[in-house]
Amino acid sequence: MEHMSNSFKSLTNRKDFKTRYNDLKKQVLNHPDVQAFLTKHSAEIEEGMVDRSLVKLFEFIEQSKNCQDCPSLAECKNLLEGYHPRLVIEGRMINIQYEKCPTKVIHDERKKHASLIKSMYIPKDILEAQFDNIEIEMDETSRIKAIGLAQDFVEQYNNGKHPKGLYLYGSFGVGKTYILGAIANELASSKVSSMLVYVPEFMRELKGSFQDSSLDEKLDAVKKVPVLMLDDIGAESMSSWMRDEILGAILQYRMLENLPTFFSSNFNLKELQHHLSYSQRGEEEPVKAARIMERIKHMAIPIELIGRNRRD
Ligand code: ADP
Ligand code: MG
Repeated sequence: MEHMSNSFKSLTNRKDFKTRYNDLKKQVLNHPDVQAFLTKHSAEIEEGMVDRSLVKLFEFIEQSKNCQDCPSLAECKNLLEGYHPRLVIEGRMINIQYEKCPTKVIHDERKKHASLIKSMYIPKDILEAQFDNIEIEMDETSRIKAIGLAQDFVEQYNNGKHPKGLYLYGSFGVGKTYILGAIANELASSKVSSMLVYVPEFMRELKGSFQDSSLDEKLDAVKKVPVLMLDDIGAESMSSWMRDEILGAILQYRMLENLPTFFSSNFNLKELQHHLSYSQRGEEEPVKAARIMERIKHMAIPIELIGRNRRD
């Protein structure tokens, strides 16, 4: 706020102070956000209040609101990184209150999740995945279809609907996780929090957190996140307990609460069912596997991704 009062000081030193002051006042009063505030609070605005608060109003219009102008948190141009101003009436003045901006809210949520769940670790290239820079080769109709469905999802979700997620399957390296990353980023830019969880690591982690009582907290975060992506399901070795009490419970909760869930897997649905049917001890439990599969089919549209291994 220091530089603001400085700019006012230099203003008052000039001869043409009056003209410049009036220009500034006009600029402030013409600002649509200021106008909206003054209209909304017209009953409380007293004589002289605007003049007394001009420095604050100027500070307000100079800063970005709702991240319209911020490509990322690091490039935030506001005085306090990640905070945007809101006008309030305090006594006989209009003042500013700073609140976390939507980008910072998402950023902090991701950080909280990542510190809670280690398997949230996402490689840098996936973190940067965007619909706009997913490469598509000539014959890759399945990728085009998958991206189209992913974009439809984001659009519908942003319109307040609860669309189905996707079950992306296909061989190693075709870009399944990459598409999930692009969806997560697209959602983040519309201020929707999501979590991309690498299932094999998550299962290992949960096993390890049995004793330290963080299990419930971890499970809760995954159950309740607005959009969940279970990456590489089927690549884990899952005990019956994990399948029924962990995976089953997560899916059950999300299905009932209408919370969208995505999956990626090297297996198609039939192969996943087979994988889930055999416990680590080799017992066959087809009914329990079928129950999980029912939930997955209910929650996600299966789509096969075909292409070359992009890791080569
Ligand atoms: P999968 O999850 O299917 O095994 P990934 O999504 O991890 O495959 O993709 C493998 C590698 O290829 C990653 O390094 C990713 O950044 C890159 N990649 C995937 N899809 C694309 C794409 N369409 N354009 C450019 N790079 C891609
Ligand atoms: Mg993957």
